[in-house]
Parts: sequence; structure tokens; C-alpha cells
Amino acid sequence: MYGRWRDNLARWGVREWAMTGLALVVICAVVLTAGRGLAFGSDSEIKAVRFGGDAQRTRIVLDLGKNTRGQVIEDGSTGRVVVSMSGITPGRGLDGNGSGLVRSYEVSATGGATRVRLDLARGAEIERRFLLPPGDGAQNYRYVIDLKATGAAALIPAAPPRREQARAEKPLIVIDAGHGGRDPGAQGVHAQEKAVTLSAARELKAALERTGRYRVRLTRDGDVYVVHGRRVQIARDAGADLFISLHADAGTDPALRGASVYTLSEQGAGRAVREFTRGDDWQRDLRLPGRDPSVDRILLDMTQRATQNRSAQFARVLLTHLEGGDHPLLRRSHRDAGLAVLLAPDVPAILFEMGFITNPEDERVLTDERARRRLMRSVAEGIDRYFREPSAPVMVAGEVAGGG
Ligand SMILES: [Zn+2]
Repeated sequence: MYGRWRDNLARWGVREWAMTGLALVVICAVVLTAGRGLAFGSDSEIKAVRFGGDAQRTRIVLDLGKNTRGQVIEDGSTGRVVVSMSGITPGRGLDGNGSGLVRSYEVSATGGATRVRLDLARGAEIERRFLLPPGDGAQNYRYVIDLKATGAAALIPAAPPRREQARAEKPLIVIDAGHGGRDPGAQGVHAQEKAVTLSAARELKAALERTGRYRVRLTRDGDVYVVHGRRVQIARDAGADLFISLHADAGTDPALRGASVYTLSEQGAGRAVREFTRGDDWQRDLRLPGRDPSVDRILLDMTQRATQNRSAQFARVLLTHLEGGDHPLLRRSHRDAGLAVLLAPDVPAILFEMGFITNPEDERVLTDERARRRLMRSVAEGIDRYFREPSAPVMVAGEVAGGG
């Protein structure tokens, strides 16, 4: 159950949003003034090269005066990435030390095009490239290159045996047992939500591990309180392929029963973006590669749309699977919500309400070890089905493949 927490959000939400709005207006005004005041060079120039991320994933953002098409000349297998951009000229003094996977970079003119050369610090490949038009507070086009460390490089210095490599490639599922410690969650007649979520999380972990196809981590494995931001961060830091948060519903009507699944809503995504600009713990939790907050915000938004699609896809697969089982579902069992625990911008995430702890039949399922195990086995099968299903497109509709 998450209701009270959501109410608190709604209460401080209005003031926070107003302040964020004001801050954005001020930022926009500053950016506009600065943009006019500086000699920004020709409009067909690459104006700046920026880096973000770390030694596993590095994002390179090129600020451009105009639209361009990129073509990959070297893809990283040679120790460098070279992208040629047509109709654009290199700006002045665009070379220097890189960051993360990029040791150094150089922007130079070659026969009507501009070449951006990234010398790699270690083995890496292009994960994706896309062009962003001006908007969302940014005045110019941005060409984004995401690099990720290649498997071989990631295993340096000591290459483990092949069996170990195979194991490292198994999808990682992070299971979050809702509530804990001083936060008991919803109260049933016999049980507290924090206890049934922990038991269920352990059972789901066991069921997934029995298949031999997944790595599993819990956000808590005891009666402890973990803040929401930390739960999300655990999934992000571990590079989770799926984040599933387990809860039990509560209703004023004891007849109300059934399981349901939440994914992040459009509003939730919007709030994540706003949270991101606030400068508190959430900002650190949600920080994406990149040093320019306005760029970060757009990229966060884009990443989220992709993960939202995957979250919704998983929710559908899971619900379809559970429909065939003996545990009832709420009539409208897939709901969208802006829940903080789902705000990992780059990890597909769902919140699974296992049933109503305030309903006698559901509480029995949640507290009876055999019944609960059966439900968790069913969830594990749903997860398995999702990972075995041919993957739906992950790229965001608005993304431009870079032309090359
Ligand atoms: Zn809950």
C-alpha cells in the first residue's frame, strides 16, 4: 500500500512544482541572456563537446548550430570512435581530454564534413546515437553518442573462465520488499505488509534462482527501513534488467481483493523530471550522465519513455500470465502511478500489489507459506516469459538513428 505516502506527495507537490517552475523561468532567462551576450560563432559550427557518465557508460553530447547527419567511420573496435558529420564545421579549439571511456577527443574538418574522433580509454562500442532538436530550454541541436564498455574490456584485467562469463550475462532482477523497519505498511488482521513483502521477496528470489537463468538481488533482506531513493539506486547501481517492488494493498471495503500491477505513468515521469531539477536527494538519485542540467532533463525524459514502454510490456506479460492462475486480479489490474519507487529512469520497473491484506482470502494467501509460494512461482514464470519473449522495440520513437 502506498496511499498515505502519495497523499504527502500531493500536499507538498503544489509548492514544489511552483518553485521549480519559477527556477526554470530564471534559468531560461539566464540562458537566453548568456546566449545573446556571447559570441557563439557560426550557426553551422560544433559549439561544444560535453561528457558525462562513467567508465562503464559514457555519454558524449555535441552542441550543434544546425541539424546534421552522422555517419560512423570507426565503431570502437579499433580503439577509437570516429563519426563524420555532414554540413557542419568544427568550432575552434574543440579537442582535449575526455572522460569515462574516452581518453581524448578531437574535432577536425575533412572535405566538407567534420570528423569527431574519440580515442578510447578502454574497449567500448557505440550503444546508440541520436539527434535532439532545440527545445526544453536548450537553444541548439544536440548530437548524442552513448558508449558502453565492451564485455571483453569489462573483464580486464583477469579474464574469468567461460562459465563465469555466461553467468555474468544473465539478466539481473532486483526485488524490492515494500516497507520495513519503522515503516510497517498496511495492517491486516493477522499480518503486517512489511513482513509478507519480505517473505514474498525471498520466495520470488528462490523461484527465479531455481531456473538458473537469472541473477537476483533484494533491496532489503531483513526488517529494516530503506528509503525509496536508495531502493531505486540499488537497482541502478547494479545495472538491473528489471525492478519489481512487492506490496500488499489495503482497502476500507474488506470485500475488495485481487492483485494488480503498477507502472510509471506519464505524470510520474513528468514528476521525475521535475524532481531531477530540485537539487535534493532525488536529484542525486536520478542523475544521468551529462553535466548540463537542461540536457540531462531531456535525456532523462527520453530514457524514461523507453523504460516506460518496457515496464508496460512486462506488466502486460505478467498480468496475462497471472490471469491463467488461481489468484484473482483486480478488474482493472494494470494501473499507472507516479510512485517514487518506480522512478529509476533507466531500469524497467513495476510495483506488484500482491492482493489486499484487508481481505480475509487475500490475507490468507499472503500469510500462508504454501499459497504465497505458489503466487510467487507464478510471478517468476511471468518474469521468465517476459525475458523469453522476442523483445519489443526499445528505442524511443523520437530518436533519430543519426543517419549513418
Ligand atoms: Zn505498500
